[in-house]
Amino acid sequence: MGQKAHRKARIATRREREIAGRWMQHAKSRPEITLEEALKPGMVAHAVFQHDDWCPALETFSIRDCKCSPNIKFHRE
Ligand SMILES: [Zn+2]
Repeated sequence: MGQKAHRKARIATRREREIAGRWMQHAKSRPEITLEEALKPGMVAHAVFQHDDWCPALETFSIRDCKCSPNIKFHRE
């Protein structure tokens, strides 16, 4: 059996940062809602993760690399 490829953390490219930054700005421009509201059927919502300064997810832009306890805010689309 082949070994399952291990996904190595990598730094996000400039392009990826630009796209993520644009999405983040868009999400934050929308009204903030509670988790309960975000989970309602038919609701389209953004989850904005606020990481600690040292968190690796800030470099990789992947939530899978998160090692902190991020603050999570929800915004309706
Ligand atoms: Zn984190």
